[in-house]
Amino acid sequence: MKKACKSCKALVIKGSVCPICKGTDLTSSFQGIVYIFDVESEIAKKLGITASGKYAIKV
Ligand SMILES: [Zn+2]
Repeated sequence: MKKACKSCKALVIKGSVCPICKGTDLTSSFQGIVYIFDVESEIAKKLGITASGKYAIKV
């Protein structure tokens, strides 16, 4: 099961460490996944995302 980082919302595909912030506080209770290509986009700004990648929403 995929998990998401609680601090930066990045999706953690495998392992138990966030690939973006190296955090280990993960959750499996999220409602959806967004793929951010452009960190300047509205959705990225709204979510506070600063690196492209897969992110969970409603963590
Ligand atoms: Zn993180």
